[in-house]
Amino acid sequence: MTFRALVINKTDDHYQCELTQLETDALTDEDVHLKVLYSSLNYKDGLAITGKGPVVRKFPMVPGIDLVAEVIDSRSDEFSAGDQVILNGWGVGEKYWGGLAEYANLRADWLIPLPAKLTPEQAMWIGTAGYTAMLSVMALQQHHITPESGPILVTGAGGGVGSFAVYLLAKLGFKVTAVTGRESLYPYLKELGAVQFMTRSELDKPGKPLQKESWAGAIDCVGSHTLANVCAGMQYGGVVACCGLAQGMDLPASVAPFILRGITLAGIDSVMRPKADRIEAWQQLADLVDEEVLSKIGQTIVLEQALDYAHQLMDGQVKGRIAVKIA
Ligand code: NDP
Repeated sequence: MTFRALVINKTDDHYQCELTQLETDALTDEDVHLKVLYSSLNYKDGLAITGKGPVVRKFPMVPGIDLVAEVIDSRSDEFSAGDQVILNGWGVGEKYWGGLAEYANLRADWLIPLPAKLTPEQAMWIGTAGYTAMLSVMALQQHHITPESGPILVTGAGGGVGSFAVYLLAKLGFKVTAVTGRESLYPYLKELGAVQFMTRSELDKPGKPLQKESWAGAIDCVGSHTLANVCAGMQYGGVVACCGLAQGMDLPASVAPFILRGITLAGIDSVMRPKADRIEAWQQLADLVDEEVLSKIGQTIVLEQALDYAHQLMDGQVKGRIAVKIA
């Protein structure tokens, strides 16, 4: 039996991703055999599909770091045929064949149940981006940042993680300032709950080590000079959740805000996050997001369009989140 999949191949001088047929026998033997319903396109999938970043560690590779699937067959007591499950990360789509295919075999340890309040499509509109935004919000909360603490800054606000960060924070009562390089997105970000805006260019160049104390918290999707300036502009005791590197992986910062204002830089990793945190984050997402707003952030394409959209994502032309309908 064969099934449809996006497949990435690499030779010495050629990197290629194409929609093709794979043999079911080629799937690795894991606990749970899944029929994929939806996957999604994240920044990392864009890097993998276009070859613009060294994301794929093994070839041939099926990309897709996210999926919602129905269990066909399971050797684990945790799941039975017919269950709907979510997978985010764990190296899937990088080291292990991922979600941009009709079938997948995965470890039970990596899967969590799809919360009853979410449809498979909604869960993939949320995807790793929304789940990472939720983990970032949880980090601020775990460090006792509340709406009363003061305003929160979100950088890379027009992207997938940023859009969800703005929305979730606003839903929880925080006053959110959105940083974006695209002024055309102000109405969209306002609808998600942003009350103030800054342009990307105000933050993305080298700045002073200590700046005006403006923010109680921040969710940074961008890294580099932007993150250094965010740290420099935190209020005393402020907390920055660091989750992305859209501007760069470097952090040309000073220790001044840490030792003079006692700020905290909280690192957010979604890929290897323990299962209990994942279940909590997804439950909170299911409780917080409402259908109407979700449909403003998300759009759905089919597998045949994924290659084209991956290039658009890399060119910074995509707003919000893309689910990919598989079945
Ligand atoms: P998107 O491409 O959807 O969003 C990134 C946003 O960053 C863009 O929309 C843009 O926002 C802004 N941006 C892009 N280039 C630059 C630049 N040169 N300087 C400043 N801002 C820039 O990606 P995601 O939202 O999916 O991911 C955001 C980041 O988070 C990525 O770096 C990704 O790798 C990382 N990530 C990390 C995870 C983790 O586990 N820690 C999980 C998921 C993602 P705008 O146009 O509004 O300025």
